[in-house]
Amino acid sequence: MTEIPKTHPRYLSLVAREKVAAGVAKGFTSTQGLIAQGRGEAFDYLIGERTTPSAAEATRAAAAMLLHSRRPAISVNGNVAALMAEEMVALAKALNAPLEVNLFHRSEERVGRIADLLRFLGAEHVLGERPDAIVPGLDHARAKATSGGIYDADVVLIPLEDGDRCEALLAMGKKTIAIDLNPLSRTAVKATISIVDNVTRALPNLIAAIEELKRSSEGEIEEILASYDNRAALRMSLEEIKSTLSRG
Ligand code: ATP
Ligand code: MG
Repeated sequence: MTEIPKTHPRYLSLVAREKVAAGVAKGFTSTQGLIAQGRGEAFDYLIGERTTPSAAEATRAAAAMLLHSRRPAISVNGNVAALMAEEMVALAKALNAPLEVNLFHRSEERVGRIADLLRFLGAEHVLGERPDAIVPGLDHARAKATSGGIYDADVVLIPLEDGDRCEALLAMGKKTIAIDLNPLSRTAVKATISIVDNVTRALPNLIAAIEELKRSSEGEIEEILASYDNRAALRMSLEEIKSTLSRG
């Protein structure tokens, strides 16, 4: 990796870029993943490269929804594997939930490499290498899912997901939690809860919120879910972008 001085004003962003590029070199990430990262960086600039108040609220609601769910599942793609593999493993442990590798540009080799990486980092329940079910409404490769994982989950965490797949999971009656820096993406607009934040900030915040809410009562968790309004949170994230822009 290129050595980036810690004093660089955009250090974290540059490190993330290097990690995604390294993910391509190591065979976890597709070349299209570089484009997705670039798009994310642009939106991160617009939200001020920070966790905004609306993102913090969405993250707390997401923690409540994951704790409230009967069968949560976590989707892992090439960008997430390059950027946040350790945190994904920690999240799966905190929730006792499976990690399922699911790739937009599926290749069996990449699925295997990502699954091996997650297991190497200590994940106990890694799915995706032997899909046995189909999510209706998607073309064949993207529709592949696994029983006991995403296929029969009630809540699915989908960081950096495609809008079509988010919709197809919702059509199966599932709830979806997106992590997507673009508040205008179809994924963010459609998801049950949309965390408009960089996955590099959102995942540690989500794990911390889960640990905190584990000490709360069922009533408190239900209250957080009842008072959360995703449309209002998305509107707020657009307002946050406007205020970043008007600061000039
Ligand atoms: P749509 O949901 O409208 O179909 P898209 O699929 O066209 O959107 P892509 O470029 O395919 O968009 O997917 C990348 C999405 O992931 C973008 O919305 C981008 O903002 C988001 N993204 C990229 N990197 C990150 C990151 N590090 N953290 C969070 N979100 C990210
Ligand atoms: Mg897409």
